[in-house]
Amino acid sequence: MKTIQLRGHHDPFPVGKIFCLGRNYAEHAREMQAEIPQTPVVFLKPGTAVIHDGETIIIPGISREAHHEVELVVAIGKPGKHIRRNAAYDHVLGYGIGLDMTLRDVQNEAKKRGLPWSVAKGFDTSAPVSDIIPADRVGNPHALTISCTVNGTLRQRSSTGRMLLQIDEIIEYISSIFTMEAGDLIFTGTPEGVGEVKHGDVVEAELLGFARISHPVRNE
Ligand code: MG
Repeated sequence: MKTIQLRGHHDPFPVGKIFCLGRNYAEHAREMQAEIPQTPVVFLKPGTAVIHDGETIIIPGISREAHHEVELVVAIGKPGKHIRRNAAYDHVLGYGIGLDMTLRDVQNEAKKRGLPWSVAKGFDTSAPVSDIIPADRVGNPHALTISCTVNGTLRQRSSTGRMLLQIDEIIEYISSIFTMEAGDLIFTGTPEGVGEVKHGDVVEAELLGFARISHPVRNE
């Protein structure tokens, strides 16, 4: 089972379900020529998709177009179902930075044919995540800067204040459908600037002031 380190703590915790939000920043929805959703777009990655700082992102042979999507990651520390918005932060263990790696060509084909995104979004190495920083050290999770560079060139940079659905609303919505467990992660959606990574590139993601991850990319 994949694990993640809670910074400042001894033992890593096992990763449970990985929930991901789609189209949670208006400018990204626009660049994808997609509408801002009326109800939240939620999909899942398996825990096996997680890799840690320094590990290699491997693009499966079925794709010719892998994209980076930098996202704030929320780690759940306390289980719950039907969690109310005003209690949502009691369930948050902490925050990290992650990359929702996406096989864009496979996803576009799936969209066109009305098929699921599991392959495009859930392949091995599709979920690079940093250590988790305890929530009390981070403070307001909607006042953070997230960014992504490829080979040192800035591709994405935004404030988590620009999320359409805020973290407490996301937890309320997801937990109305799925039981949330300690060790579950939520990828909260990506801002504009997504783009391609190729074999030989190095992609870096940063939660300014708190965490940074760096990953070489190679073809399978
Ligand atoms: Mg995403």
